[in-house]
Amino acid sequence: MPASDYEVTIGLEVHCQIRTQTKMFCACRAGFGYAPNTNVCPTCLGMPGALSTLNVRAIERTILAGRLLGCSIPPISKWDRKNYFYPDMPKNYQTSQLDLPLCIGGSVPLYEWTFPANTEVPASEDGIVRHVKLDHIHLEEDAAKLTHFAGFSLVDYNRGGTPLMEIVSAPDLHTPDEAYAYLKSLQQIMVYADISNADMEKGEMRCDVNVSLRPRGQKELGEKIEMKNINSMSAARRALIYEIRRQTEELDAGIAQVQSTRRWDDTLGESIIMRTKENAHDYRYHTCPDLIPVRTAPLVERVQECIPEMPDARRQRLIRDYMLPAADATTLVSDASLCSFFERTVQAGAPARKAANWVINTLTAVLTERETSLADCPISPAALADIIGIVEDGTVSTNQAREVLDVIWRTPDKDASSAAAELGYKKADSGALEELVRSVLEENQDMVELVRAGNAKLVNALTGKVMKTANPKPNPKLVTQLILSCIKS
Ligand SMILES: [Zn+2]
Repeated sequence: MPASDYEVTIGLEVHCQIRTQTKMFCACRAGFGYAPNTNVCPTCLGMPGALSTLNVRAIERTILAGRLLGCSIPPISKWDRKNYFYPDMPKNYQTSQLDLPLCIGGSVPLYEWTFPANTEVPASEDGIVRHVKLDHIHLEEDAAKLTHFAGFSLVDYNRGGTPLMEIVSAPDLHTPDEAYAYLKSLQQIMVYADISNADMEKGEMRCDVNVSLRPRGQKELGEKIEMKNINSMSAARRALIYEIRRQTEELDAGIAQVQSTRRWDDTLGESIIMRTKENAHDYRYHTCPDLIPVRTAPLVERVQECIPEMPDARRQRLIRDYMLPAADATTLVSDASLCSFFERTVQAGAPARKAANWVINTLTAVLTERETSLADCPISPAALADIIGIVEDGTVSTNQAREVLDVIWRTPDKDASSAAAELGYKKADSGALEELVRSVLEENQDMVELVRAGNAKLVNALTGKVMKTANPKPNPKLVTQLILSCIKS
């Protein structure tokens, strides 16, 4: 059968480390960059008799994620032990949630800007292509980090016990592009709401994908193949493209699929069978006797006060309040920090459209060229507004402003006007400049006549002549305007 005769069903389980100071069930510091096995205590090392406490912020952040994604929050949520034996979990069980998770249902919006670049994006309304149904979101603890070497493995328990949110979709995705858009959208929302840094390269967000094929029209789903711990959106997309092709070929050849887990090797570009799939009952889940269930009502109330604006609402506001073209608004919301930079530049007094143009084009290009992240950018939004200001008042041209930006990049304390003066650009005294223009025109009467006769190109030559003589250097645009008005009068 051709691939189009099969219906593809994809489900995603996304693990997201929640940004908190401390771990989920003890007071150890959470986070990266510490010497191995230094942020540990009897609780997260699973010592006998050590008891757990709850990290309320992690619970709150999970509820916030649920509220943003339209989940319902059950009044009571409880903790369960998922039993397994592996060196990354010294307790021999992971504290997780099975049947009463913190968030149930809900959906993730797929925005047009979250689809992979250079692919055909489906039609959207207000930027939203469609919503992907969620099954639930639960909270658990991360396992320790294992690093494997040729003859041995090392384990770092610093990561063990980090609050980890698991966002489980319904089997409601149908293409690798949708899976990519889903991950990108989730990542954006996590960052927007300050729930997680969600950096997939750092393992702060990881994803398990599952995919099954069934002949079009068949009611029950096909056998599910799962690939775990995929660490980038494009790798998830590649893994799905490969797996859909592999399953199509096998089904066509009459090979039935068996529910199983495969490992995606992104370098080889293929998936390798690991094991046939275990089921939930293999983990002997049981209610955690150490931790009392959570009554969610007071936390839901607290979270209600800090619900941030979602990307689509922000995009609409940019178009409405700042009169930005839709394309600019889309570019800005696709990067939350760039968008905040833009808004702060406008608050510092820059006209919105000009600010958007500078932020999207000039600033982004300069950052890329200098391999600098926005967080490390020495130009503040106020400084950028200052630079835009001296373009607007005619002190410098846009090209000259780029040089001013370079000066401020090196010496961020300098204001735009003094940086411009240092470069020899100064707002011209309009009287003196007009005098200079008139004298240059006087000396070049022949050219003036040709301009009057319709040779517009010579205006640039005249502007050049004025620029050559002028000191300090005026804005060439202003000079051209003066030349034109002098010639007309
Ligand atoms: Zn600890």
